[in-house]
Amino acid sequence: MRFSRLRLQGFKSFVDPTDLVIADGLTGVVGPNGCGKSNLLEALRWVMGENRPTAMRGGGMEDVIFAGASSRPARNFAEVTLALDNTERTAPAAFNDADALDVVRRITRDAGSAYKLNGKDVRARDVQMLFADASTGAHSPALVRQGQISELINAKPQKRRRILEEAAGISGLYQRRHEAELKLNATTANLTRVDDVVEQLA
Ligand code: ATP
Repeated sequence: MRFSRLRLQGFKSFVDPTDLVIADGLTGVVGPNGCGKSNLLEALRWVMGENRPTAMRGGGMEDVIFAGASSRPARNFAEVTLALDNTERTAPAAFNDADALDVVRRITRDAGSAYKLNGKDVRARDVQMLFADASTGAHSPALVRQGQISELINAKPQKRRRILEEAAGISGLYQRRHEAELKLNATTANLTRVDDVVEQLA
């Protein structure tokens, strides 16, 4: 899977629909301070399922919606679309039957976030797992924000281990293990209840 295009609308300073074509090779984004370079990286993280407002430099998730400027009113929603090229069929099995994948996240004031994958409603978890299985995602070590290198140098070994695990592509397994444990606990509770009923009937 390869990122091929990022489209933003109403996201932070990108109030008008804006397309960023991500061509083969290296893509550089240059511009004066405050022109929105970091906002682009945040849009990439956000569409991949980032759910911590602080990682978006905000107090709440709705802070990603264009807040208005002297000449333009605030918007009611923000939307980011990430187009993925899957012609080499490297997407995880559940999504691997299309040449291109369009992942859309939209947040509406007072209504929260909704995700779509190739036009179909999906859960945040589906999108997070898609990227986790492809060894990338909102927390991917490939996305380096300002100040992150010095944080890494000073990080505790456990945090460094998480980063290595993400790079190795096994972070999706943690989520699956957690879900399996929840199911196992629920099944154990059900079995105990069945035992009680059987005892009462005997
Ligand atoms: P630098 O080179 O200084 O790191 P940058 O190019 O990375 O800057 P960003 O930090 O991406 O710039 O963009 C900051 C701009 O985004 C600021 O002008 C800020 O006002 C604007 N901005 C952030 N959130 C919103 C929002 N919700 N609505 C409107 N504008 C916003």
